[in-house]
Amino acid sequence: MTAQHPSLVGIDIRAEIERLRREKNVVILAHYYQKPELQDLADFVGDSLELSRKAAETDAEVIAFCGVKFMAEVAKILSPEKTVILPDMNAGCSLEDACPPARFKAFREAHPDHIALTYINCSTEVKALSDIIVTSSSAETILQQIPKDQKIIFGPDRHLGGYLSRKFNREMLLWPGVCIVHEAFSETELLKLKAQHPGAPIAAHPECPPTIVDHADYVGSTSGILNYAKAMTGDTLIVATEPHIIHQMQLAMPDKTFIGAPGGDGNCNCNICPYMALNTLEKLYISLRDLSPRIEIEEGLRLKAKHSLDRMLEMASGSVGKGDLGAK
Ligand code: SF4
Repeated sequence: MTAQHPSLVGIDIRAEIERLRREKNVVILAHYYQKPELQDLADFVGDSLELSRKAAETDAEVIAFCGVKFMAEVAKILSPEKTVILPDMNAGCSLEDACPPARFKAFREAHPDHIALTYINCSTEVKALSDIIVTSSSAETILQQIPKDQKIIFGPDRHLGGYLSRKFNREMLLWPGVCIVHEAFSETELLKLKAQHPGAPIAAHPECPPTIVDHADYVGSTSGILNYAKAMTGDTLIVATEPHIIHQMQLAMPDKTFIGAPGGDGNCNCNICPYMALNTLEKLYISLRDLSPRIEIEEGLRLKAKHSLDRMLEMASGSVGKGDLGAK
């Protein structure tokens, strides 16, 4: 591939990435929502929980994280001795933005009898203020281990929290954040699509609002949706999550058909995560070349955030592919 950026003209980006990853002992981790070209060259592609585990276990000296900033921060929290780079430091998340640490701290202080069960899509500061972190693939397993009489604050995703609350008949104080990508799915357009493919089940991520989740045959994390697609007997699936997951589905199941659920008027690209889309091959190359931009976290803050993440890893043990949110 020849680079388009003026300063990179003539450079074979893919060959350079291959050279640098070997020379610098790099592991490249990619989330399912990354562009296919980044997924294809990653050492491992996964969801937040799987990537957290990989980051904690790797022997590599450098972790190149193709995902968003909070994910790369989790890698640094769990592997502080490693260099963690993110191709674009502006790759944020609307859920993180919706939960400023000072407001979250005040909310916690106003509810001292509640524990904070917090979705991993948040800042390191909010993790440090939380008791237990969850991912969409570990939330069910973890929630079921918390005594019924324990009061819970769940943040920052009110749709995931609401889904868990309804499924387990468990009241929780919900922080009012949303994922702008999953919030954008259109119920009207989904029902039109369903009418065109009457036999096709719908698989939805629990970050979707109830108007979408209520039509789903399966609700789960990205890895859960992938497993559902492998196990289903039919040959067509409607997928209500960020559409780049479909790349892994097509690689694993070339004979099946995967249709992305529509957003807005049915023609928009509003279901592509604009933060994930900031990462490119060129930026990955530059970050490997310069070992920058790097994730740095102050040690006291890191240790506080690690506490809630360690609790997740302990409580979620064995949950990948088993304790997922599962069928409704
Ligand atoms: S898809 Fe939504 S939750 Fe995931 S990184 Fe993008 S904005 Fe955040």
